[in-house]
Amino acid sequence: MDTARLNRFISGLWDDEIVPQLVEYIRIPNKSPMFDPKWVEHGYMDAAVKLMETWARSKLSSLPGATLEVVRLEGRTPLIYIEVPGSGDDTVVLYGHLDKQPEMTGWAEGLGPWTPVLKGDKLYGRGGADDGYAIFGSLAALLALHEQGVPHARCVVLIEACEESGSYDLPYYVDHLADRIGNPSLVVCLDSGCGNYDQLWLTTSLRGMTGGELTVQVLEEGVHSGDASGVVPSSFRILRELLSRLEDPQTGTIEPKELYVDIPPQRIEQARKSAEVLGTAVYDKFPFVEGMHPVTEDLTELVLNRTWRPQLAVTGADGLPPLESAGNVLRPKTALKLSLRVPPTLSGAKAGQFVKQLLEKDPPYGAKVTFKLEKDGSGWNAPQLSPWLEEAVANASQTYFGAPAAYMGEGGSIPFMGMLGEKFPKAQFLITGVLGPHSNAHGPNEFLHIPTGKKVSMVVADVVAHHYAQGAKG
Ligand SMILES: [Zn+2]
Repeated sequence: MDTARLNRFISGLWDDEIVPQLVEYIRIPNKSPMFDPKWVEHGYMDAAVKLMETWARSKLSSLPGATLEVVRLEGRTPLIYIEVPGSGDDTVVLYGHLDKQPEMTGWAEGLGPWTPVLKGDKLYGRGGADDGYAIFGSLAALLALHEQGVPHARCVVLIEACEESGSYDLPYYVDHLADRIGNPSLVVCLDSGCGNYDQLWLTTSLRGMTGGELTVQVLEEGVHSGDASGVVPSSFRILRELLSRLEDPQTGTIEPKELYVDIPPQRIEQARKSAEVLGTAVYDKFPFVEGMHPVTEDLTELVLNRTWRPQLAVTGADGLPPLESAGNVLRPKTALKLSLRVPPTLSGAKAGQFVKQLLEKDPPYGAKVTFKLEKDGSGWNAPQLSPWLEEAVANASQTYFGAPAAYMGEGGSIPFMGMLGEKFPKAQFLITGVLGPHSNAHGPNEFLHIPTGKKVSMVVADVVAHHYAQGAKG
């Protein structure tokens, strides 16, 4: 394979077509169904599917025999299914998603979730990096191989539209398409993170997550706080007390031992190494306010906290009026949206049930306490890396980044990887992504680092070619 030619082809395709496509894609507010329950009516999801479908179809003639279908199961978000025939008996699955996180506040002047802005190497806007580029990057890789006649295994590209809601539709598609997908020996996922933009980062684990709405109701309606305080227990205070069952308010440590696993020694060693490579970038990639410091100064502990330990985020609230209309009222109820990340090898469903029981049992003062479970995605821990993949990854990082590959667990969740890991225990995984320092997926000022998008596409091409070559060798 001519790597310089591969580089030229992929860079050119990104500049001429992929970046302009992503600019249009960012304009579409196709929020994941959990954040846009009327997504069918709004039609944004269909618009995003149409954009990707149109571009992908225009490329099929360069991939002989390739087919594309937008699969729509009744009452579910759509899925783009592309099959590219290849040589040999093996299958590669390339996965990505096209639904987006909601807007979030705090975008800088001139930027916005649905306003694409190109600044230097970066394309700002929601969903470019998470994970709109995946279908383009995956097809760019396959097109580059075909352009110079490099053989690869049969490839199946799956782009779902429900990932940011916990992929609750995806298992139905995987069952529906099981015969067509086959038995992949390599899974490529471009929805993950990178510790920096200087080398290839392979994701070795993902956390699972559970969460939902915790509501505490104490009154049928709000009353004068001067009249009631000291008599009626505050729903806010009860909520605080309930949260303390889960989390130590002083340290943020999750208390119940049921929510922990034993961390594999190899992962502790990898955490130590990535802490060494990254240094204080482990925490100063976050936009701390002046004077603020992280949970601990121990970098390895920080890496382990974000990759192998349970941690809680409160992501929304209800029952609280906005500040400008807050009167002196003892409010009838307070509700919080809880998002709990759980260790890679803990069952998300079991963790969710455990948390529900923990929060709902023995409600203080007999208050009405409900925890409505919303998501229960399990995490994922990479199987032992095959020597061929380890070598392919090392070479690809040197060739396209000019630096050695690095391995790290990610704190985020990609529910599909857990599903695939269980279904195909023999498959190897290439999980990587462009979500590096300050790229801020899910927050304001999300950007796609274009040079990294290009390099990751090149790495995929290279690894998919090696996957076939080592299989052909036997
Ligand atoms: Zn994503």
